[in-house]
This record gives sequence, structure tokens and C-alpha cells, in this order.
Amino acid sequence: MKPGHYKTFSDCFRSFDAQKVSGLISQASSSEVQRALSKAGHCSVEDLAALLSPAAEPFLEAMASEANRLTRKRFGKTIQMFVPMYLSNECQNICTYCGFSLGNKIPRITLNKEQFLNEIEAVKKWGFEHILLVTGESHLVGMEYFLEMIPLARQHFAHVSIEVQPLEEKDYQKLHAAGVESVLVYQETYSEEAYSAHHTKGKKANFFNRLETPEKIARAGINKIGLGSLLGLSDWRTDAWFAGLHLVYMREKYWRSRYSLAFPRLQPAEGIVDPAVITTEKNLAQLICAYRLLDETVELSLSTRESERFRNHAIQLGVTTMSAGSRTDPGGYQTTETELEQFEISDERNPDEVANMLVKAGLEPVWKDWDQVISG
Ligand code: SF4
Repeated sequence: MKPGHYKTFSDCFRSFDAQKVSGLISQASSSEVQRALSKAGHCSVEDLAALLSPAAEPFLEAMASEANRLTRKRFGKTIQMFVPMYLSNECQNICTYCGFSLGNKIPRITLNKEQFLNEIEAVKKWGFEHILLVTGESHLVGMEYFLEMIPLARQHFAHVSIEVQPLEEKDYQKLHAAGVESVLVYQETYSEEAYSAHHTKGKKANFFNRLETPEKIARAGINKIGLGSLLGLSDWRTDAWFAGLHLVYMREKYWRSRYSLAFPRLQPAEGIVDPAVITTEKNLAQLICAYRLLDETVELSLSTRESERFRNHAIQLGVTTMSAGSRTDPGGYQTTETELEQFEISDERNPDEVANMLVKAGLEPVWKDWDQVISG
């Protein structure tokens, strides 16, 4: 049955046995990889298993070349730029990999309107027109707070994305009316076992609630939905495959929305676990190419978690969207202190430096995403 024919993504997800998927990936053959390569841009989830497999590693150069060709065909010589802004580090969940986790003894800060406007002033000077607003998951930063801050953000940015706690469909409708065009909600890991081990307290411990949230976002009419997993919590190949399945399900069923995929690797932060599984840069390059070969329309987003060297390379693989100059602490654009960071960033170049690198590579930095004016 096609993924989009299931009633919910939970039903689709339950129809696959994770161990069998893992076996399918590890046992894929060279000829299956070659067959997937011949279908580049329109691969099936079975082809994705081959492209993520160890058998695909000798084909990395061919995959990169196809990924680059498809990306330029669809997105031209452009990279979309956005800036994340952390509004609050309040959180009532325990996530073993996050600096904002409830048990961590850090000062808790939620920006008020004045602090938010100061942060906006600090990032606007770089030219950003696309902002990603991020908060922890707490009743202290709920709908009332979002509906106060989002219209302010809309006064200064053409495109507002959010990465906040999972909400209900009616809440997403209100946020859309207030100016939100994109919502990111990463599953972190698609392994139920690893998910339970890393989310030990709070609402986020509900695996299936998170799994079904992208559908609520789509039904609310949000323009773009961000999916992905945090690499390092479980086997990266299997997690990447399920994130791909999630994309295919969403694309088949909720075709009016656009989609982006992210593939952050677990980075160090105050009081967090080390990655259970290492994903190397070579693995990450393979994953990026595999996603592009799966879907030539999906946006692929790379954050400043990755090194300057890797990001310079990844823009030729299939990445379409990048953050730059990021701070991961509330109020971080006006201070040089870093003890409130959610995680450490790796690429510390400022946005001008990243833009210059793109121009030297023959690419044009685009500072805004879709404008609400265009969609009416
Ligand atoms: S990952 Fe999100 S939900 Fe988990 S502790 Fe960090 S901010 Fe809270």
C-alpha cells in the first residue's frame, strides 16, 4: 500500500517493522543502488533504503553529482538564508540531549516584547527576511505568548517560521492567521525504544502525539512543514529512512504544503548525553544526497551545528537552506555569554562571511522565503 493511503502516519509507521527496515538497508546490493540512481528525483522508499545503505558508499560521487544536478534544476543557483531566534529556554520536558532540559540548573529566560525587539534589531542589520522563532516546551510559553510575539515578528520579517511545542490543529490555524508560514517539528528519533530512553519526562514523552503533529499542521493550512530526526540517538540510516517515509506520506496526502527536511547531528551542551551512535561527515553527505534523490522538490536545511568546511561542501550536494550567525540562547544576539545555549554551534562565521562564501561558490544568497503577500 502506498504510504499516503494510510489513515494516519501512525498507522503507516506501525505497518513497518524497524528491524526489518534496518535489515533491508544493511543488506541492500550494488544493483539496487544503481537502480535507485537511475530513478533520481523520483525514488520510492524502497530505493531510499538502498541509497542510505553501506552498499551505496562506493557510489557517493555519482549520488553527489545527481543530487547537485537535481537541486540546480529545481532551485537554481540559490541558497535560502534564515536566522533562528530563541525566545525562551523554559522547558518542562527532560530530553537527555538538550541544554534546556528540565533538570539542568540554568537560569531560565523568556524574552519580553522589548527584549525581543532588541534581538530583532540585532539580526535585521544582516539583511535577514526569514526568521525562525524557537522556544522550549512549557506552559509559560504557550499560545498567549506566541500570539503576542508573532505579529511583532511579522512587522519586521517577510517570513516567520516557528519551532515550538506540538499544538492542536485549531492552534496552528490561529498561528497561521497571525502570520506563521512554516512550522518545524522534528521527531528526533523514529525508534520508539530510543525515543523513550531519551525523553523521560513531560509531554514530549508521547511518541505518537509528536508523530501525528505534522498532519495537524498540514490540515491547518500552514504553507511549509519541517520534518527530520536528530542524528545520534539511534541508528542514523534507519532514522533517516523513517523520516523519508514520513515525508513521502505527507507529500502524498497533504500535497498543498511544502516540505523541508533537516538532519541535525547531536552536539555537546551543558549536562547532556554523548551521541549513542556516531554519524560521520561522510555519512551525512550520503544522507543529504539520498534525500535529494528521493525527492527533487524537498528543501534540505543545514544549520550551524556543522563545521564551516562541511557546510561549504554541502551546498554542492543538495542543501537549499542555511542558517548563519546563529545563537542558541535567548537574548544571544546582544550578548557574548554562551552558558545558556541549547547546544554549541560549529560554524561561527557571521552572515556576511557565509554570504561571501556562497557568492564565491557561484551561488546567490536569498534572504527571504515565501512571502505571505504572494499567497494572498
Ligand atoms: S529538546 Fe526541546 S523539549 Fe527537549 S528539553 Fe530541549 S527545549 Fe525542551
